[in-house]
Amino acid sequence: MSLEDFIEKKQEILNNIQNIMKENAKKKMYSYIKHIDSLEKNDELMPNSIYWCGSRECATVIEEKTGKSILSSTDENGKCIVCGKRGNKTVISKKY
Ligand SMILES: [Zn+2]
Repeated sequence: MSLEDFIEKKQEILNNIQNIMKENAKKKMYSYIKHIDSLEKNDELMPNSIYWCGSRECATVIEEKTGKSILSSTDENGKCIVCGKRGNKTVISKKY
């Protein structure tokens, strides 16, 4: 193995490890976040997860009712908390 090959491989391995760690961190983060099926159940201070269809209209309703912003979505599917259409599990959290 040449030095170049080694350096290239090393970077690849490091990237893989980083991806795994990111995935694990994300899974862990989601396991701590309470999922709510109604915007009235929104926690004042803690982040929550909801299903959101991805539309701007629903995002506005969510943001206005909870005072939170939409952070990240996963590929887990469910009915949008606002319109009932197919959505993805999404984390909402207060802006700081
Ligand atoms: Zn919606």
